Amino acid sequence: MEAHEQAVAALRRIYREADDEARADPRLRCELSGRCCRFREAGHRLFVTRLEYEEMVRWGGAASAKASAGKPGAGDEGVCPWLQGTLCGNREGRALACRTYYCSDEAAAAGLTERHHREIRRLHERHGIPYDYRPLHEHAR
Ligand code: SF4
Repeated sequence: MEAHEQAVAALRRIYREADDEARADPRLRCELSGRCCRFREAGHRLFVTRLEYEEMVRWGGAASAKASAGKPGAGDEGVCPWLQGTLCGNREGRALACRTYYCSDEAAAAGLTERHHREIRRLHERHGIPYDYRPLHEHAR
């Protein structure tokens, strides 16, 4: 397996661990309002690494007509390009912060995000991949 594929596999492992932890934590509940994906309304910016962004495009391009029709992330910067109604149209490709943000308990969610984000930072170092951590929409430019 080449270095980039190994890095993607490591990222997917981190995602699975984060998903498992979130599911097991009773403080973290999602009401599927879609608000956190409407960035301007929620006062959020979604930061992702380049590797995470590439995974979003790889999965979201196949799963979302909206994403594959143009340049994902290059549209309305106030809303995630993969949001479909109030639901995520890119469940498989969504980034760590999408998997670990919960408005039911933001402090618990932040702890989960920080722990797993440290692992993502380390995987970039280990595989010699530029970290390039910035807002989603900047990656699309
Ligand atoms: S990828 Fe999905 S979960 Fe993440 S911000 Fe976009 S719509 Fe929301």
